[in-house]
Amino acid sequence: MDSGALGRLRGQAVTLVEVAPRDGLQNEAVQLSTADKVAFVDLLSAAHLPAIEVTAFVSAAWVPQMADAADVVRQITRRPGTRYTALVPNLKGFERALAAGVTEVAVVLAASETFSRRNINQSIDASLAVYREVCDRARAADVRVRGYLSTAFGCPYEGPVAVDAVVARTMQLLDCGVFEVAISDTIGVAHPGQVARLLESLQASVAIERIALHLHDTRGTALANVMAGLLAGVRTFDAAAGGLGGCPYAPGAAGNLATDDLVFMLDGLGMDSGVVPARLHEASAFIATRLDHPLPSRYARAPRLIG
Ligand code: MG
Repeated sequence: MDSGALGRLRGQAVTLVEVAPRDGLQNEAVQLSTADKVAFVDLLSAAHLPAIEVTAFVSAAWVPQMADAADVVRQITRRPGTRYTALVPNLKGFERALAAGVTEVAVVLAASETFSRRNINQSIDASLAVYREVCDRARAADVRVRGYLSTAFGCPYEGPVAVDAVVARTMQLLDCGVFEVAISDTIGVAHPGQVARLLESLQASVAIERIALHLHDTRGTALANVMAGLLAGVRTFDAAAGGLGGCPYAPGAAGNLATDDLVFMLDGLGMDSGVVPARLHEASAFIATRLDHPLPSRYARAPRLIG
């Protein structure tokens, strides 16, 4: 019998944003064919993921894995009920995405100044100016913009990131016009106490409906961090099928929170994600055949004792 805070989660809706085709594959060593990427997205659609980040319209010189972004977007089969989104770094990327038929894009802002300058050679304020342009252009084209705030729980160069900076940058992103901000644990250092404290500070200035969590399982705390988010009222979580993605700052470490692991926990809590687990596992099993390492997902690696 359920009771207390966890019991009250039963029956509530949760939105999962599937990021394996972009955030996952971008951080994998293997180069997939366009046909395999399309097949992967279609399998994720068949699993009824409500949102799928399909690709990134970035410079092919910087990210060769995403060179076929337009072809992937054009060749996937769009399922009614699933949102398809693509990452764009600037107005040029936005125009390419728009031309390919994308109706939702995502932009990434860093919470750490050093990370911003080292990662994209641009200050945070300069990025905000670019994203303001992207949001204005997107509004005119009837395209929604999602925001990520990276390094929100820690930076590989600066270490801890001040809560005040995270709150301020989140509000600036929302002010640009993004509909939600995915507070992102880019290097996988967050723990549940930190998640609870950060969300408490954010909620003083931002409606919880505008906040999502993007968590990495580098130190094994991703699901515990989701639980801290659920108890604080967050209902949107990013995850990657199979746990794809690795961590560029911790070679060999687990990457994005695995959608498979997250769905297992949410189903156990009686929450409604709409995802069909058997179909999701088919998508993960498919992509496993294309990787050069086993899937990081604990669920995918566990023996099938039941079900
Ligand atoms: Mg990630």
